[in-house]
Amino acid sequence: MTKITFDKHLQKQEFLNIFKGYEREVFEVEVRHDPLLGNTSIYNKLLKGKIKVIFGTSDHGLIDEMVQASEKNCILCPDKIENNTPKYPEEISTTGRIYQGEAVLFPNLFPISKYHAVISVSKAHFLRLSEFSTEILSDALTAARIFVNSVYKNDISPLFITLNANYLFPAGASFVHPHLQLLISTVPYSYHKRLLDACDKYHNTNHSNYFNDLIIEEKMIDERYISQKGNWHWLASFAPSGSNEIIGIHEFMDDFEALSEHDIKQLSSGISEVLNYYEKMGFLSFNFTIFSVRNSQNQKGFNCLVKLITRQNLYQNYRNDDYYLQKILQSELMITLPEELASGMKSI
Ligand SMILES: [Zn+2]
Repeated sequence: MTKITFDKHLQKQEFLNIFKGYEREVFEVEVRHDPLLGNTSIYNKLLKGKIKVIFGTSDHGLIDEMVQASEKNCILCPDKIENNTPKYPEEISTTGRIYQGEAVLFPNLFPISKYHAVISVSKAHFLRLSEFSTEILSDALTAARIFVNSVYKNDISPLFITLNANYLFPAGASFVHPHLQLLISTVPYSYHKRLLDACDKYHNTNHSNYFNDLIIEEKMIDERYISQKGNWHWLASFAPSGSNEIIGIHEFMDDFEALSEHDIKQLSSGISEVLNYYEKMGFLSFNFTIFSVRNSQNQKGFNCLVKLITRQNLYQNYRNDDYYLQKILQSELMITLPEELASGMKSI
């Protein structure tokens, strides 16, 4: 018997359509529940027609202007990073900052966790999504792993790690320049804690890892499973917690720090392919988070994973794509069904 339930509810409602001479019409709303956390995601096929209103179209002239205007004073650009960013003490990094390929890691001046590093990803001040190459991402992720490793040597506490990306202003970035934010905390933040607790509970009940069972189920159903790259499995979430959510799950590791060079390369390659596909779909702004845990003796059944979502496009006076539904009701709208998303990405 399957241990994972993909729960869907169909709600129907009638009203008199003004555009069809007040003819009675039936509308359908599909509500899905995430099999692990129970989060709700909502789909109404009519909203596909409103996609331009919801996400907008990127204004490339405006983007060019913003890129040029922000480049002059950008402290993440290679000619300014050395004299404008803080350094770590010797016990964390003998060189103060961590350099790996084009990536440079340094402390955030305004930390929001015990350790909070910023990673400038590229020498280029702006990248199209298709320009986030495996190599660029792999260097940035390697810089993060080197930093986590030196923190581990100096700090024996259980540590909860997230490596986060905000790309462009609609995704919450304050810099145009591609960068990542690495948070290492002794306390997991809300969503991370919910994930860990739910995986632990699932493990205690079923004596198996939720995400490993999910991979088996999704491969069998073959509607949302996309591909395998090394030890990483890529799929579109059944009930996404963001637009066009794609997740990459490691088969057996829970700790980002312990990933091999090959694991980091394969993960970077997967992220690069997803971003490339987001560009093909017409998106420019995104968030992603890699979730990881160290010393997980109190939490079992967790796999290191990355979650990627698209955000609002960038244009003059853009609206925010998070409203009461996402921020307060903590539910997500599905404009593209996960099954269409997976099938589209598999076909490229
Ligand atoms: Zn820059």
